[in-house]
Amino acid sequence: MKLERVLCPICSKDDAGKFLPFGPDHLVRCRTCGLVYSNPRRSMDEVSEFFEEKYIPDQKKLKRELGAWRAESLLREAEIIKAMKPAGAILDIGCAGGHFLEHFLKDGWECTGVEPSRVAAEEAGRKGIRIFQSVLNQADIGLSDHFDVVTYLDTLFFSSTPVDDLKKISRLLKNDGRLFLDLPGFTYRIARNYGPLCLLIDRRWTNFKLTSPHLFILSTRTLRKMLSQAGMEIEAVHLEQAPARGSSLMRLINRAHYEFCRLLFNLSGGSINLAAKAFYVCRKID
Ligand SMILES: [Zn+2]
Repeated sequence: MKLERVLCPICSKDDAGKFLPFGPDHLVRCRTCGLVYSNPRRSMDEVSEFFEEKYIPDQKKLKRELGAWRAESLLREAEIIKAMKPAGAILDIGCAGGHFLEHFLKDGWECTGVEPSRVAAEEAGRKGIRIFQSVLNQADIGLSDHFDVVTYLDTLFFSSTPVDDLKKISRLLKNDGRLFLDLPGFTYRIARNYGPLCLLIDRRWTNFKLTSPHLFILSTRTLRKMLSQAGMEIEAVHLEQAPARGSSLMRLINRAHYEFCRLLFNLSGGSINLAAKAFYVCRKID
């Protein structure tokens, strides 16, 4: 495995300390902006190859992990978007096999997807989606002020150029367009992958690995900083549940946790978020 050292993806400084006291050394927190990121991280050549050929190796992963397990969340997120924008042009970044865009295709939206995986991009293309088989910063989309909606679901943390990606999205969006981001909940991601809960469920102290293609962990605070560099801001936050997988009992626990988190989030006026995921609605700043 090849490694590379990087600057903070938000403020481009090299001033970070170990994030978790008994956790892995590569997970660091920037002393300037507070972003938690991987340094060193896997070389981007290796990560690109991973996403083109290995991340989605076959139809099984496409249909199960990126389709069925997330079906409920994707439907809920599509409904939130359509309540705000009933028709138009949509761009989905990391669109996999096009499961999410199918909700829009059937209503006559103009659907475009960006997807590095060859297997997934071919599947999405067969559905009638205009596809760029690439990561966003290399996709020659060539349109400005064109899209009513851009979605970047559960994928931004894989990007080696997140601020540039957001700047590009801002250019692609119409002035009244919206960016929708689905990201892991910060508290949930740490608690689930490090410490007693991880030990109890996975029989190991931490799931954070240097080999992981997850390059950073965003909180609402650090996301706000990243968006502001691209001239964007958060307009609203909706909570989301973890992928619905495993036994009926596991699905029931997942659902109960989600409903509990929503209640706590609402009662605390949005200040306590323990949910597995957050769905952010973002707009351009005038
Ligand atoms: Zn920083």
